[in-house]
Parts: sequence; structure tokens; C-alpha cells
Amino acid sequence: MSLSQGRHYLAIPGPSVIPDRVLQAMHQAAPNIYEGALHEMVEGMIPDLNRVARSSGEVAIYIANGHGTWEAALTNILSRGDRVLALSTGRFAIFWAGMAERLGVEVDLIDFGKSAPVDLDQVEAKLKADSNRSYKAILVVQTDTASSVRNDLAALGECIRSSGHPALYLVDSMASLACEPFEMDSWGVDLMVAGSQKGLMTPPGLGFMFFNQRVLEARKKADLVTPYWDLRPRIHPEVFYEYFFGTAPTHHLFGLREALTMLLEEEGLEAAWDRHAKLSRAVWAAFDAWGRGSSIRLNITDPKNRSHSVTAVSMDAPHATELRRWTEKKSGVTLGIGLGMAEPSDPAYHGFFRVAHMGHVNAHMTLGMLAVIDAGLKALNIPHGEGAIEAASRVVSEA
Ligand SMILES: *Cc1c(COP(=O)(O)O)cnc(C)c1O
Repeated sequence: MSLSQGRHYLAIPGPSVIPDRVLQAMHQAAPNIYEGALHEMVEGMIPDLNRVARSSGEVAIYIANGHGTWEAALTNILSRGDRVLALSTGRFAIFWAGMAERLGVEVDLIDFGKSAPVDLDQVEAKLKADSNRSYKAILVVQTDTASSVRNDLAALGECIRSSGHPALYLVDSMASLACEPFEMDSWGVDLMVAGSQKGLMTPPGLGFMFFNQRVLEARKKADLVTPYWDLRPRIHPEVFYEYFFGTAPTHHLFGLREALTMLLEEEGLEAAWDRHAKLSRAVWAAFDAWGRGSSIRLNITDPKNRSHSVTAVSMDAPHATELRRWTEKKSGVTLGIGLGMAEPSDPAYHGFFRVAHMGHVNAHMTLGMLAVIDAGLKALNIPHGEGAIEAASRVVSEA
């Protein structure tokens, strides 16, 4: 029998769960885009976005997913033939660097594998070896959504600063913004990209590019920039339409306004970080218990290197795929596929999955998801250790 009727929980690492209030805020007639309330709302959202990023700089908003915003970041600061250093801790920096290559940028990539964070010693050595300062930018992700590695961006910022290398520090925080600490100013990040559909709890379609004065300087020389992606008209525009270089994404903005109010005025940003930290510990406790005497493993061994918004897991194939199918069909929970760990045609692919604990999630959703996984392991006779729900509940119970 199936027990999946009821509210479905999409526990994949983006798009994340959209709060009903965000959906309801979007459910309204089209506004006047030429004057009035929409203009005031957008002008008020700029400082709120900067509060989320802890940035005193600028933000450009694009009608784009994360890939579009990646391209905006690269084209606004680079020229054909420029060099960048990309630091891979899973898949996403490789994707971003691949886009740079296709734009005619030369990429030097350090691959730290699929289960380890950036090693600062290697970065330091690489920057030191670049004696003619050829790297224009350093590309890194905060949370790699495929591996669930979390990088220590404060330490990396310090490493770049102390090397004296002038490369711009570019960060992708798509999977982590509003889920865990991000400090644009104090970590010395020059540019950060994020999207609406993860920690910001709004449908996919808005991209955010936060940046500082150094990026504005680099923009003057960038020959890759094209009119639509140019950041310049989008900040402090003389006429409203320049914010979006055309018609505003009106309903996405209504939704985002509501999400920012929930995040900043009601819960508080730091409380949201704490909530994600706590819920992720509950998830890890459950997997640690299931893993005792079985093949079930968290991808990242050291908790300090683990994302607070997504957790990548492995187990003997094909149990991961069987489990995902079971939870979706029988219990109304959709888990994430394993990404970048094996090709879909490889039998090993069916040994990986991911769970999201990102955005609009609370204790009952997380404990419910874990209990559903526990039931699935039992129903499918997948070997697992006991006590996972007890362990997760204990984490939640501790204030
Ligand atoms: C989701 C995500 C992206 C890509 O976003 P799209 O909207 O799918 O283009 C980029 N980087 C990271 C780290 C992500 O999690």
C-alpha cells in the first residue's frame, strides 16, 4: 500500500520547499511596472538582500538561474585570454570553470576530490607560484551541492589576503546563502552569486550577484561583458526598468519580498543559520546510526567540513535508488539523486543519494523525512544500524 497522500515533501537540494506565504504573495494581479508600489518594494529589497549577504557593497539582480548568474559574474570582470584559478570540491566549481573556458578564459583547476574541502596550503603554494600575478580571479563554492562539502571561506579569504595576490575572490553560495553563515565584508569576498530557489525559499528564476568596489574596477576592463548581463545599469539605475534591463520579474519579486520578511524580520538571519545547523546535526546523527554495521556512509567524514543545507550519502548499490523510489511512492518524500559521484549508466550510480535540509524546513519535516527513510530501509530489507530516529530526536530535543 502507499501512504503518500497528504502534503508531499520535496527534500532535494533545490528548488527547495516554497512557503505557502511566498506562494500566496505571488498570487495577485499584475502590477503597474512604470510607477508606484513595485518601485518602492524593489528599492527596499536591495538593502535587505545585502543584509542576507552581510555586504555593504552592491547587488545586481538577474532574471536567471544560477548558471546565468555564473555567466554574469565571469563576463563582468574578465576578458578573453585572462587566467583564473578554480578550486573544486565536488562538481560545481568544475561547472563554473567550464563556463569560463567556453568564454575563452584560461582555467587552472585544483581538484580536491569529492569528499574534501579546499586545502589552503595548496592554494597558498599556487598563489605564490603565480609570480607574475596572472590569475584575475579565484573561483570557489561555499557548499558544493553534489558532494555536500562546505568550505571555510573565512580561512580562504585570509589565505588569499596574506598571499598578497590581487586576484578577485569569487564565491558561489547558491546552496548555502541564508542557510549558514556568510560574511561578504569580513571574509573579504569580492563577488558572490546566489539564486532564489534554495535558502531564499522562492521559485527558481532570480539570480543575485553581490560585489564590491574592486569588481567595479575590474568591470572597466572586462571585454567579455554583453549589454544584457552588464552589471552597470542594474545598480543605482536612473530609470526603474534598468534594474532588470526590461520588464521586472514582478511575481518572483512579490514572493522574494515575503521570503525576506520571514527570514529577516520574523525568524532572524542568525536564528535561520542556527536552525539549519541543528537540523543538519539531526540528519548526521541518524546516518551515523544507520551506518553502524552497514554500508551506509555520509560522504564527508569531518562534521566541520559538512554543509548545513544538504547531505550526500552512499550505500551499496542499488539500494540508494530503491530507497528513493520507495520514499517517493510510498511515503510522499522525494530525496535527491546522487550527483556527480557516478555516471547514470554506471551501476554504482544507484548507491548515492542526497537529502536536503535547506530553506523552509523545520524539526517535524526533518524528523519525518528521517523516519520515512528508516521505514524504507526496513521495507526494502536494506542492512542498517538501529537507533537512528532516537539519535535524531535526541539532537532535536537538546536546546
Ligand atoms: C543550485 C546550484 C547552482 C546552479 O543553479 P541553477 O539554478 O541550477 O543554474 C550553482 N551552484 C551551486 C552550488 C548550486 O547549488
